[in-house]
Amino acid sequence: MTTNTPTDLPVVPHWIDGAESPSTSGRTAPVYDPALGVATKHVALADQSEIEKAIASAHAAFPAWRDMSLAKRQSILFSFRELLNERKGELAEIITSEHGKVVSDALGEISRGQEVVEFATGLAHHLKGEYSEQVSTGIDVYSTKQPLGVVGIISPFNFPAMVPAWFFPIAIAAGNTVVLKPSEKDPSAALWMAKLWKEAGLPDGVFTVLNGDKEAVDGLLTHPHVRAISFVGSTPIAKYVYETGTAHGKRVQALGGAKNHMLVLPDADLDLVADSAINAGFGSAGERCMAISVVVAVEPVADDLIAKISEKMSTLKVGDGRRSCDMGPLVTEVHRDKVASYIGIAEEDGASVVVDGRGIEVDGDPNGFWLGPTLLDNVPTTSRAYTEEIFGPVLSVVRVQTYEEGVALINGGAFGNGTAIFTNDGGAARRFQNEVQVGMIGINVPIPVPVATFSFGGWKDSLFGDTKAHGAEGVKFFTQQKAITSRWLDPSHGGINLGFPQN
Ligand code: NAD
Repeated sequence: MTTNTPTDLPVVPHWIDGAESPSTSGRTAPVYDPALGVATKHVALADQSEIEKAIASAHAAFPAWRDMSLAKRQSILFSFRELLNERKGELAEIITSEHGKVVSDALGEISRGQEVVEFATGLAHHLKGEYSEQVSTGIDVYSTKQPLGVVGIISPFNFPAMVPAWFFPIAIAAGNTVVLKPSEKDPSAALWMAKLWKEAGLPDGVFTVLNGDKEAVDGLLTHPHVRAISFVGSTPIAKYVYETGTAHGKRVQALGGAKNHMLVLPDADLDLVADSAINAGFGSAGERCMAISVVVAVEPVADDLIAKISEKMSTLKVGDGRRSCDMGPLVTEVHRDKVASYIGIAEEDGASVVVDGRGIEVDGDPNGFWLGPTLLDNVPTTSRAYTEEIFGPVLSVVRVQTYEEGVALINGGAFGNGTAIFTNDGGAARRFQNEVQVGMIGINVPIPVPVATFSFGGWKDSLFGDTKAHGAEGVKFFTQQKAITSRWLDPSHGGINLGFPQN
């Protein structure tokens, strides 16, 4: 929604050239406190001249940053890491006030982002090339890794700190300059991190925040000075970003939506499974790309498992994320209503609503965007409640008779982000990790987000592009390799030879 800004609300500006840059476009969007249900500020929505200004600043900062020594870049990254670690409480409060997730969960996402900063402090190691001596007589070949230039990051609302941090520490460490376009639903975390970079000693223009909507995204996707795009968001936009960015000659990694299944074999520990399903289904109100949204129960466990999940769900405290609750509100009223509509759709399609989160009592303002944890049983796999990403606190149970039926169900889906198997049978788990067509797999781990030294990304409609986020693939994405063939010979060894060089 774009509106005229009420004069009494502050406007979240851009961050350009190392300073706040107030919007000149005259366009803004409201930013809500989801637990209160009111707009507390607006965010600037960039127009063409602001897009140009942001990219020009990043472009101008590139040569000096590219040439800054690895040691100096590394010390700035260490300072950023120290400041983030000291002051993460402030950032968590900001995230909760715009996203709604509980403060402890906001701190969790910051820790996972900090992990990538820590990985990036090893840049002197990550950026090493290779060297082969004497590939031919007197000839050596070696490779170097160089930065690309200006890179764009476009992020979703659900992890306003962690998702940008999957990319910017490595991009910056490698010598690129970054323009971050955060979600317009919760833009303040990006601005806070920009100020922290400045405090850490990052030169102006190396980290820019361009606030906006589709216009800002299209500006990044088409601008000739932007060399690469890292996108995270819903599948239709990920596909659009991939197609548009690559058509304009850019390197693109575009991570999309998900529908993550947890396969429960009859030998699993059902108490552990019930706890895991609740944590992974309702943490952050289900607004996680690695949330579990479908429990696939191999019979005869479904009745016992549903009884345990329902009993444990009754202890969850829903309310304002600043009040030590387990689960907060959804991000906007529109999103809450959309998520709630899937409960009705599932019911109409023949599912039973075991626990209904509509109309739940909360520890918070009645105007907040609330929806309680919801459990559906016997969800038909033809229902839109099964085939579409719901992205809220709605956990579906699908009953199957065999392991094979469960794996076929998972492999038949459009998405391939994450999945998990719960079993005490090592052979079954090993078979699952081999057969399942999904990018990230948990074995008795419900949210298998790889640590920063590995790479994050799904398969199928969950990732467009060849390269995943962070780890070795992140370093590869933000660098381009050169191979140098070198010979140092006396001029007496010269002479004309038009033949193809051989060893
Ligand atoms: P979204 O696709 O609506 O928005 C993501 C970004 O794209 C935002 O910055 C937004 O401003 C921009 N955008 C929105 N509409 C656009 C348009 N028409 N043209 C150009 N840009 C546009 O996603 P969201 O609702 O913010 O986030 C939730 C989605 O992100 C879910 O689908 C979730 O699964 C996904 N997600 C995926 C991962 C992953 O790793 N695969 C991680 C986090 C979130």
